[in-house]
Amino acid sequence: MKYCKNCHIVYSSEAAACPKCGIPHEAENRQAAVSDTAADKKTVRRDWIWIAIGVPVLIGVIYLLILLLKSLG
Ligand SMILES: [Zn+2]
Repeated sequence: MKYCKNCHIVYSSEAAACPKCGIPHEAENRQAAVSDTAADKKTVRRDWIWIAIGVPVLIGVIYLLILLLKSLG
């Protein structure tokens, strides 16, 4: 069975294209793969932004904790 993302219907795997909209299944797969890669790149970039913000903040928090422990001791 094949699934058409365009029409949200399931059709026979023997059919080369979607019977409703006529989009070939292979072409759809390629399109989906491209958009997935783009989404992955965006996610990776967002992760790097969070690392770039998070690491200095984490170092700052650790530094403050050390200062706090020193002032208590
Ligand atoms: Zn379709």
